[in-house]
Amino acid sequence: MNRIKRALVTGSTSGIGLAIAHQLAVAGHDLVLHGLESQSEGDALAESFRKQHGVDTLYVHADVSRVENIEQMMAEIEQKAGPVTLLVNNAGIQHTSPIESFPPEKWDKIIAINLSAAFHTSRLAIPAMVEQGWGRIINISSVHGLVGSVNKSAYVAAKHGLVGMTKVTALELASQGITANCICPGWTDTPLLVEQFKAFAQQNNTSYEEAKQGLIKAKAPYPDFVSPADIGQLVVFLCSDAAKAITGTSMPIDGGWTAH
Ligand code: NAD
Repeated sequence: MNRIKRALVTGSTSGIGLAIAHQLAVAGHDLVLHGLESQSEGDALAESFRKQHGVDTLYVHADVSRVENIEQMMAEIEQKAGPVTLLVNNAGIQHTSPIESFPPEKWDKIIAINLSAAFHTSRLAIPAMVEQGWGRIINISSVHGLVGSVNKSAYVAAKHGLVGMTKVTALELASQGITANCICPGWTDTPLLVEQFKAFAQQNNTSYEEAKQGLIKAKAPYPDFVSPADIGQLVVFLCSDAAKAITGTSMPIDGGWTAH
């Protein structure tokens, strides 16, 4: 029997995180939505989830680039909604630049948001999972957790770091009913890619729409973007009891990008 649990999805006001939250809600899970939107905007989103899906939904605002904000956020969730037993670390940012001109402050920010934040939410969520003898940690890595691409040093380092941290999390918790896995998406059409679409269009003197197709063709044999809802469906499966023996893995959903 699949359990209905409360899920925290970081960065769930947009893109992949929002789609994951919808799929978890469709599966009946209660939710904590999270992002940088104001409390009133987030509360309105939570209300729309309650109406659309009939699940208990809370919104928390926190900039996860700072550890004290994460500690405050996790305490707020515990106080308002109780423990989180499904944790989806999804919040992330991107910046592209050759390594010699990569701004150090951008490096620090990407490592903080894309990697360290997942460590902090995990360390704070794990005790309640251990107490309940059940938990799921899903880290949204990337194809860039498995392979590199030029101009993405910080992003690739952070996403490879997530893959490594997830293996250790899995090993430490495997005997306690808790699994930890990474999902590694390829190109997914979200606001995260807008700057890359614009740069590709400029460099290749093409339209914005042609740039999207050009970027896909440059990396993946499957001729379309990955669907955010499909990533959400994979999260739902990993949260099910049928996935209890799947742990420590990094699953590409990348249109064949990493098959090269
Ligand atoms: P997005 O920009 O639509 O969403 C990013 C989310 O992270 C937003 O909700 C934003 O509010 C949140 N966020 C960013 N900085 C934050 C901060 N400092 N504090 C709190 N929240 C913050 O982008 P997306 O494509 O949906 O990205 C979601 C995840 O998927 C990221 O980890 C990204 O690396 C990963 N990913 C994306 C792609 C892709 O092609 N779009 C591919 C592989 C992996």
